[in-house]
Amino acid sequence: MRQIDHHIAGGAGGASAGSGRFGDVLDPNNGGVQAQVALGDRAILDRAVAAAKAAQPAWAATNPQRRARVMFEFKRLVEANMNELAEMLSSEHGKVIADSKGDIQRGLEVIEFCCGIPHVLKGEYTQGAGPGIDVYSMRQPIGIGAGITPFNFPAMIPLWMGGVATAVGNAFILKPSERDPSVPVRLSELFLEAGLPEGIFQTVHGDKEMVDAILDHPDIGAISFVGSSDIAHYVYNRGVANGKRVQAMGGAKNHGIVMPDADLDQVVNDLTGAAFGSAGERCMALPVVVPVGEDTANRLREKLVPAIEALRVGVSTDAEAHYGPVVTQAHKEKVEGWIAKCADEGAELVVDGRGFTLQGHEKGFFVGPTLFDHVTPDMESYKEEIFGPVLQIVRAPDFETALELPSKHQYGNGVAIFTRNGHAAREFAARVQVGMVGINVPIPVPVAYHSFGGWKRSAFGDTNQHGMEGVKFWTKVKTVTARWPDGAAGGVGDAGNAFVIPTMG
Ligand code: NAD
Repeated sequence: MRQIDHHIAGGAGGASAGSGRFGDVLDPNNGGVQAQVALGDRAILDRAVAAAKAAQPAWAATNPQRRARVMFEFKRLVEANMNELAEMLSSEHGKVIADSKGDIQRGLEVIEFCCGIPHVLKGEYTQGAGPGIDVYSMRQPIGIGAGITPFNFPAMIPLWMGGVATAVGNAFILKPSERDPSVPVRLSELFLEAGLPEGIFQTVHGDKEMVDAILDHPDIGAISFVGSSDIAHYVYNRGVANGKRVQAMGGAKNHGIVMPDADLDQVVNDLTGAAFGSAGERCMALPVVVPVGEDTANRLREKLVPAIEALRVGVSTDAEAHYGPVVTQAHKEKVEGWIAKCADEGAELVVDGRGFTLQGHEKGFFVGPTLFDHVTPDMESYKEEIFGPVLQIVRAPDFETALELPSKHQYGNGVAIFTRNGHAAREFAARVQVGMVGINVPIPVPVAYHSFGGWKRSAFGDTNQHGMEGVKFWTKVKTVTARWPDGAAGGVGDAGNAFVIPTMG
């Protein structure tokens, strides 16, 4: 059976040298095990940290333009290997190939941002802050940073973190999801090929044991996490208790508000893509739709049902499929369990995706598209993240109720409003208690040079991913106050004796 190893320093990291434990990497299209991934421990992490420590000072001292050139070359190499990477990604995750290319491309867009890193690292300067005094600030790397990532974007999220972390001069250790670990390893290889020194971008695999080793390692200064909320909270608390800088993004339950004046044909197109694309396994999926007014709800449902029934579920290599299998059998069972729960709670099951099988792939982890109507905010199935191809209609009588639903939900990652009314959209964007807002945009993932992050239980910590927020997370600010006296007593810059706190007054 194929083994997937750590990627430490310049190459494979000794699968059997670690804990000796392995995890199964499944084939979501057919069921069954396709590879085994090494599950590392503190000893493996120590090796990666030692390589990072040896390499990081010289990398930090490399001028930013040279660091940016590595990013340019990495981008070229990823583009040249796009097909191979997308196939690898789809075979472990289950998303269709075009969607895997999107996953990789969104990560590359962060690399494009990193190609301009000299510009954003310029710092600030004040000439003449006092007599003969100049003040300037610089951003310096943390040293060694780590990223712990979820299964659902095995290219994009490692590149959100690892791109910015390394471009600003850190060494970065990635602990990707053990469910789809091959693409992260391939990205580590391509970084080396692009000219990144050994030890600057490494991949170690593992489960809780490795995550805990990262959280407790004294030489790791910053940790970026993306995954489910309970684990995000745990990672945040333990990392911060150990004195580290931590940002931890969690789960989501994003709402799409549909105003009575919305273009419903467009909304149906947007919703089917945003709710069912990638089998709903996106933290920026739209699993809840909130039509405003009974008439809007009825008209929307009438258009939505045939569109959902027309969706094609297929294997990830099926170019005609709208979405593929979910990631594991356990996840399939969990999603189907939520469908049963939502029906038990009294919602109307309009389209039931349970028991879906694909001919020739009977053991694949497929879930058919599912639609519920008359879901209410007190239901557990509304409060919790399902992370599958399940869309819930929650009817709202008016705009204020629709605004309140996402604002009061425990998660606050993304939200969208569909309307032709600029005033309603503006009011909604200003007042809603959610971190990322789309106006007639169903999946408002910000572009790479802005920043990604939710509110409430969707994110712990106070800096977002990528863009300037990412640069802030992966750097420390140093501020220098410099005086250059002209040498004459009482001349420019001569401070004399000072026993009180200096002021600029
Ligand atoms: P997950 O929380 O199970 O795993 C995320 C990471 O944590 C993995 O690397 C995993 O190995 C590690 N991990 C798992 N259990 C652990 C434990 N007990 N202790 C320590 N570490 C542990 O998440 P997932 O299923 O891989 O990904 C899906 C989740 O990620 C969803 O909740 C989704 O909403 C969320 N997500 C959030 C964002 C965001 O930006 N907010 C983006 C993508 C995914």
